[in-house]
Order: sequence, then structure tokens, then C-alpha cells
Amino acid sequence: MRSHDPAMRSASAIIIGGGIAGLTAALKLAPRPVVLLLNAPLGSGASTGWAQGGISAAMAPGDSPQQHASDTLCAAAGIADAAIVALATSEAPGCIEDMIAMGALFDRTPGGELALGREAAHSVNRIVHIGGDGTGAGLMRALIAAVQTCPSITVVENVAAEELMTSQGRVCGVIARAIDDTGDGPLYLRVPAVVLATGGIGGLYAVTTNPPGCTGAGLAMAAKAGARLSDLEFVQFHPTAMDIGLAPAPLASEALRGEGAVLVNELGDRFMRREHAAAELAPRDVVARAIWRQMRDGHKVFLDCRAALGDTFAQRFPTVYALAMKAGINPSTDLIPVAPAAHYHMGGVATDSNGRTSVPGLWACGEVAATGLHGANRLASNSLLEGLVFGARAALDIAAQNESAPAAPVETAMVQFRAQFRAQFWAYDTPELAPLVQRLRELMSLHAGVVRNEAGLRAALGELDGMLAEAGNRSARVCNMLVAARLVCIAALRRCESRGGHYREDYPETDPAQQRRSFLYPFHTGVEPQIARVRA
Ligand SMILES: Cc1cc2nc3c(=O)[nH]c(=O)nc-3n(C[C@H](O)[C@H](O)[C@H](O)COP(=O)(O)OP(=O)(O)OC[C@H]3O[C@@H](n4cnc5c(N)ncnc54)[C@H](O)[C@@H]3O)c2cc1C
Repeated sequence: MRSHDPAMRSASAIIIGGGIAGLTAALKLAPRPVVLLLNAPLGSGASTGWAQGGISAAMAPGDSPQQHASDTLCAAAGIADAAIVALATSEAPGCIEDMIAMGALFDRTPGGELALGREAAHSVNRIVHIGGDGTGAGLMRALIAAVQTCPSITVVENVAAEELMTSQGRVCGVIARAIDDTGDGPLYLRVPAVVLATGGIGGLYAVTTNPPGCTGAGLAMAAKAGARLSDLEFVQFHPTAMDIGLAPAPLASEALRGEGAVLVNELGDRFMRREHAAAELAPRDVVARAIWRQMRDGHKVFLDCRAALGDTFAQRFPTVYALAMKAGINPSTDLIPVAPAAHYHMGGVATDSNGRTSVPGLWACGEVAATGLHGANRLASNSLLEGLVFGARAALDIAAQNESAPAAPVETAMVQFRAQFRAQFWAYDTPELAPLVQRLRELMSLHAGVVRNEAGLRAALGELDGMLAEAGNRSARVCNMLVAARLVCIAALRRCESRGGHYREDYPETDPAQQRRSFLYPFHTGVEPQIARVRA
């Protein structure tokens, strides 16, 4: 696709990313013509498709958006934006109704009511789900079916956005490149509105539950365009990803511990009993840190499900069972090796309640955005909700600004890039940089992971600068990873306390004086290594 292609001539927006946020934005912009730019085939590459638990919304008779808001604020460790929380929780039930109208088949009780599940830190049952633990896949089925029959959406697959084009302080397009680029060079796509919906940053870490394409590209692109960023230090680590040599690492669901599975090291020591009164059922960040310390001290950590589940494992947790068996581990009789894994980024590109960033022409929604909904820690199942609420609000805002834009259907005759998407995103492009990317991911896990300190973060920043110089201009995608990593380290260095997902061993206490969101203001110098330098 070139900028003179018919689809581009009539597009009123480019939406980068095809998870819940991007697909919702594209659908809500109809009938305005939009281009959906994806670095993978539609339906793969998005965390959304892998979501298990569900979406939170006050749908039960005894529940209310106020109660949902109160639980959200409680989990956020004091720094969520109360107005945004009130807005998202009050719009949540309407979003679920929208998804039902679109064909999402939420699980129901025998009486036909929505079956509502309960998750950690929710005071009532308010999690709607599909197929038990297949919520993300079910949502994607409904969204993709709607997108495929929506004439105003042109889907461009296997093309990665690399940079935002700016002119006079405004975003005016996207520079992108086909995944299988064999020398064609970048594509320059001019458009009046760009929506970042690129998901999270798990791929910056050695162990992650995120799909391979979630490497912080949106964050880096926004930073380089001068957008304000927020709460980047807050990364949620899932304590029990299966450490079985798979990248990404499959989850050993928290529900296993809920059923009585215990954590042990290779000596059989059930260390969680010393760490917290609730042992394995302690909060997610507490368990993640305890496992991290065991591993730092040279131990291996395992989830022991033998006594709790034994022969019933396959029937009660079929997904986890199948994944473990694939790696040669029978969880009914064997220990499952586990490690903390980067799971969710609370921070991102700062936006207002309509998904607007600080740069005109640029919107962000979903995990790449920082609306203030999650504060320092995300309440379970609030992230899919955030994608629905703010994907829709960003679309309505663009539509309102774009009243005069042509509403003709996009012509479908266009080039579709069909590349063989390789599972290891970080290795497909510029193979000689693969070792550098691996070093980056290990560096981030070591110094900007579950436990951080000043010396480690400074060392990481020094190494990242060296890697930026080493990478040179050989790969915009790798440079974006390095820039995003650098930004997370800077934010983590600046917050001299421990709060929510951010733990500093040199500042282990929560400091009431730092009970506020953090903001970074990158400025555009035009020189790659300097791009992510920040001023307060
Ligand atoms: C295993 C797992 C289980 C989870 N379970 C739940 C749950 O039960 N409930 C809940 O609320 N949340 C859950 N989450 C979190 C939730 O799934 C995500 O936060 C949410 O789906 C993010 O949606 P999104 O649309 O912002 O991004 P994603 O769904 O991640 O989509 C990002 C899109 O951007 C594309 N992309 C990225 N970079 C580029 C680029 N440079 N150019 C072009 N395209 C690009 C990707 O290909 C993808 O299409 C879970 C996450 C994981 C990983």
C-alpha cells in the first residue's frame, strides 16, 4: 500500500493495532473510512485474544458502578484518576450490551442471566466471561466478524508502524514497513488522525505472557512525536507463568493456587508460608517478589498441584494441562516450573477521557494508553473494559473533529501484505540484532523487573544507551524497543518509593508524599538516541 492508494486517499484515520481497543475504535468510526494497520494477521498478535478471566462490569442487581469504582480505586494504590474511574465503570454495562449486540456469546446461567464470576479484589461477582476461560478469543471472534463485514474498514496486515509523521506540532501520518520487507523501504501514510492501539510492553522482558509483537512500539513512537507519557514505572508481573522454555510463557492460572496448589523450591521448601499470612494466596505482587527472591538466590521454583488437583487436573484446567503436557510436564504427577512474567503495563501514553494525547492528531487507547484508570495496579479484568470504553470514546472524538471528512466506503482494491509471520517477533527483523534484543530483554528483567534499585536502573540506562548506539539505524523496530525500555527505566528511577506494581528495594516503603501519578515529557530532537531524553 502506498499513500496514493485509494484506501489512503479517503481514510479519515489510521488505527494501529487490532486488539479490543483498535477494533472497537475502527467499528465506532464507521461509516468513516479507516485503515487498520496490523503487524500480524488480523486475529493474531493481540493480547486480547489470550485474555482468560473476563471483563468487569456492574451488571448484577446488587452491584453498582460506584461499587466497581470503589474497588478499582482501592486496587490502584492511591493514584488512579477518580473521574476516569467513575466514567469507565459507569460506561461498562453499556459496553457489555454493545458486545452482546455485536454477537459476543457471554456465558449465562441456566435461567439465561449473565453468569458473573468473581476475581481478586472485586467485592462482588461482576466478571462476564465467554467459554469459561476463553473470553478474549470469544470477544475477538465477535469483533473480527463485525470488522470483516464493515465496508468502511480496510485491514492492512503484516505491516508494522515504525514512526509517526509530524508537521507543525501535529501528527499527520505514519511511517510503516512490511514485515517481509525485502528492500521496498518504508511506506509514508498521510492521514488526519492516528490512533495508537498497540497494546503493552511485555516483549521488552525476558519472560512475558504477552504475544511477541507487544514490544512498546506505540509508546516509543508517541514519545518521539513529543507526546506526554504517564505512570510508565508501573508494570504488573504475573507470579506464575510456566517457565518451560516457551516464549511467550503460558500462564499457570491463579485459580490453581485458589484450588490449593502450593509453591515450592527445588528443596521442597514451601517458602510462601514465611512471606505472607495468606501464603500462596497473597497479593500478586507479593507472590511475584517472593518467587523473584528465590530465583535470585539460585533456587528453582515450582507450582505443586499434585495433592490439590491430582487426577482431576486435566478435566478442571484443560488449557493449562494441555500447555504443560506439550512441554513434557504432566501436572497431575509433576511439578510445574514457574517464574514471574511481565503481564500488563499500567502506564503508557497519557490521554484524556476521549483518548486524546498531548499531541494534536494523535489518540491512544487500550493498554498503550495511560488514562489514569489503573493507577499503580490494575484491578483484574479492568483492562479489556478500558479498551472498550476508550476505544469507543476516541472514535467519537475523532468523528466529531472530522465532520467534514469524506464518508465514502474505502475501495477494497489494495495490496495486502501476506508475510509468513514468525512467532519470534524479536528475531524476524534484522537477524544480526537478535542477540542485542535478547540482551535488552534480560537487562530489563534484571534491573527494571519485579524488584528494582537505583544502581541497577542506572546501569540499565547506561547499557541501553550503548545498545542504541550499537543498533544504529539498522532497525526502527529494535530502536523503538530500546526507546520504550529506556523510558520505563527513567520512570522507575524517578519514583523513589514502592507502590503497586513498582517495587524499589532501596525505597521499600510507600511514601504518602509521592501519592500522585507520574508524567514524562519527552522532546523531539530528531536524533534517535536523544529522543527519549526527558525533562520534568
Ligand atoms: C495471557 C493474558 C491474559 C489476560 N487476561 C485478561 C483478562 O482476563 N481480563 C482483562 O481485562 N485483561 C486481561 N489481560 C490483559 C488484556 O488482554 C490486554 O490488556 C488487552 O487485551 C489489551 O488490548 P489492546 O487492544 O490495547 O492491545 P492488544 O490486544 O495487545 O493488541 C495490540 C495490537 O497492536 C498490534 N501492534 C503492536 N505494535 C504494532 C506496530 N508497531 N504496528 C502495527 N501493529 C502493531 C498487535 O499486532 C495487536 O494487533 C490478559 C493479558 C494476557 C497476555
